[in-house]
Amino acid sequence: MFAELGARAPFIRRVVLVTLFSVATSLAMTLLALRLVFHGHPGLTLSAAEVEWFSLSLSILAPALICPAACYRSAKLVAELEKARRDLDILAHTDQLTGLLNRRGFDAAAIEALEANRLARRPVAALICDIDHFKSINDRFGHGGGDRSLIRVAQILRAFSKSHGLIVGRQGGDEFVALAPGADAYEAAKIGEQIRSACAARGSDLDNPAGVSISIGAAVSARADFPLSALLRCADVALYDVKRSGRNRIQVAEIDKQWSHAA
Ligand code: GH3
Ligand code: MG
Repeated sequence: MFAELGARAPFIRRVVLVTLFSVATSLAMTLLALRLVFHGHPGLTLSAAEVEWFSLSLSILAPALICPAACYRSAKLVAELEKARRDLDILAHTDQLTGLLNRRGFDAAAIEALEANRLARRPVAALICDIDHFKSINDRFGHGGGDRSLIRVAQILRAFSKSHGLIVGRQGGDEFVALAPGADAYEAAKIGEQIRSACAARGSDLDNPAGVSISIGAAVSARADFPLSALLRCADVALYDVKRSGRNRIQVAEIDKQWSHAA
């Protein structure tokens, strides 16, 4: 109970302060008004109607002047708090190096997109892109060179996200992920190949003149309600196959076909 009271102490302190400020200001205004109206008229007698009018005027005037001052600061604090909460939310969902969505941000955005996709009964594709031999880029060009490669790949993915309506994020390390709502196996393979060749072609912008080779594992489901985690697992298996068989290409797994073969 004491702990709860302690947590509320700042709010209680603020309420007490605002109340004290309001009472003091109201008192000061009343004294001022009394002084202005009655000063220099010691023998003045007032009718009940005049006292009523005076009291009513003060009871309207005092809160009308005090409340805006008290409320303005509270409203400003609430607005600042709201902005801080929004900034924190963006920070919690953003990868600091590349500015793409991080894993948490990607999952949240992808789940939302999948829900819309489910309602539209469209297929969906997930692509996991992993830079090939990234450790050797780090070894040859230093961690800073590696970082610049990650930023370059992120820029390419961001451009694709705008042109193709993809949701893209950095899963961590040198692994990126893209969700393509509405894409079937053909489209997923086409988009993946374009991403792969864009990374290879714009390698000259990097410290690494040989370009950035990436491997892509993709999973496609015609079932609009296929869960994200299962989609990513299948894309990961496809990526593993690409890595095992030489890298620098895309492999697409058609989940529903696999299921019907298995059945
Ligand atoms: P593979 O072709 O099999 O993918 O080989 P790889 O060398 O790319 O292996 P892997 O994907 O496992 O390498 C990931 C490396 O990425 C390991 C780690 O040192 C490095 N790394 C992780 N995060 C960062 C980062 O933020 N910046 C840099 N420069 N390197 C990172
Ligand atoms: Mg890698």
